[in-house]
Amino acid sequence: MADDLYEILGVSRGASSDEIKKAYRRLARELHPDTNPDPTAEARFKEVSAAYETLSDADRRARYDTYGDARGGGGSPFDAGGGFGDIFDAFFSQMAPDQGRRGPTPGHDIETTVTIGLVDAAFGVATDVTLRLPVSCPDCAGSGATPGTDPERCGDCGGSGEVRRVRQSLLGQMITASPCTRCHGMGNIISSPCSTCHGDGRVTDEQTLTVEVPEGVEDGTTLRLTGRGAAGPRGGPSGSLYVHLRVAADSRFERNGDDLHTMVHIGIAQAALGTVLSVDTLEDPEQVAIESGTQSGAVLRRKGLGVPHLRARGRGDLYIHVQVDTPADLSDREVELLGELALIRGEHIEPTEGQRGIMSKIRSAFS
Ligand code: ZN
Repeated sequence: MADDLYEILGVSRGASSDEIKKAYRRLARELHPDTNPDPTAEARFKEVSAAYETLSDADRRARYDTYGDARGGGGSPFDAGGGFGDIFDAFFSQMAPDQGRRGPTPGHDIETTVTIGLVDAAFGVATDVTLRLPVSCPDCAGSGATPGTDPERCGDCGGSGEVRRVRQSLLGQMITASPCTRCHGMGNIISSPCSTCHGDGRVTDEQTLTVEVPEGVEDGTTLRLTGRGAAGPRGGPSGSLYVHLRVAADSRFERNGDDLHTMVHIGIAQAALGTVLSVDTLEDPEQVAIESGTQSGAVLRRKGLGVPHLRARGRGDLYIHVQVDTPADLSDREVELLGELALIRGEHIEPTEGQRGIMSKIRSAFS
């Protein structure tokens, strides 16, 4: 069974709403349980209808597009070594429960945002997130019934949780299955509700989970942790937790994809004569040789010292931008030395008022 909604409808991800509508109508006609004797047709019909319900709604489609390919995560928890131990805002999303589904309703999806540093984004980190969310009631273990009692089968739907109606539609006779209104699709009724959760099977509580952030994530990456969202009512499955990652700016590095850029400052003597510098990387500082005659704006590349790729082996590169700083506030001795250098190299200079005395001394010494 395909679980990509576009695949279910047989359209491309870029399909227009018109194309989606046409694809749905064609499939609905083909798979309608009244006309298609294939026993798997009904299940596919429901699947197609559910896919259309999401993709025909611009908001829900955008949401699906965003989270449908959520990167990383997948049941793994995470944490952030940085200094952000606050309680993060949790938003309860407005995902409508599937129409006509049987059994317990799944819990809502929950979203939260976590900010991590560049080094943690690069190498991964386990970070604790504290959320207030519906969790399984500890007293009735999520059943909603007073401990020691059992829910009774609903007489209206016979325990299926579903009521079928027949109606005429554009596609011919249509059997609609909808949740039983008496038991709200649960299939059973609680005569003696748990006093802690009032029969819901859930209580709202603060929960701390550890989220494993994989290496190579970037600002805006979303992790989907299935089964880590809100508990479903009366023992229903939990929704997903979507963790949106923000990566805080790092004063040392500018990130471009998986490449990093950093700037080093050297003096004019170092640029002319060459030097070795200790340059910060994501790990240990790197000894970098600056060759004699290096110009301001030169860029040195260190392969593999960037951010690890999220979906592939290997890492980006580190680019070291060299800035040659012209000295200011020169001492008399420095004016002397630079003045001499200028004279030797035949460079015309215009000394300031204060430097003129020193320069005329050098000139007379040279002539
Ligand atoms: Zn309870």
